[in-house]
Amino acid sequence: MKTCPDCGAEFSTSVEKKSRFCPDCGKQRIEKTWKRQMRVYGMLILGGMALILIDYMQFKGGDVAIQQASPLLLASLVLGGLGLMGGLFGFSLALFFSMWHKKRH
Ligand SMILES: [Zn+2]
Repeated sequence: MKTCPDCGAEFSTSVEKKSRFCPDCGKQRIEKTWKRQMRVYGMLILGGMALILIDYMQFKGGDVAIQQASPLLLASLVLGGLGLMGGLFGFSLALFFSMWHKKRH
């Protein structure tokens, strides 16, 4: 028998070999992890969108032509795109796994 450090409940180690926590707390922890990941990726998406939007407005304003755009502007555009795509990818992955975990019980 092991004692769960979260709620103090005792649980059999043969069932949850890998976890330090009882099955209930283990489940909650997994869900919290996915939720935290989704929040991080969500911020990445927002940050990427904001970056692209700012750059886009500069282009649209006619102040900067794409040929004479500064390396910094181009870099921030690329960075924004990467953040947006990476964020979307990570977000859908976290969403998929959290739904998959919910389906199993
Ligand atoms: Zn517990």
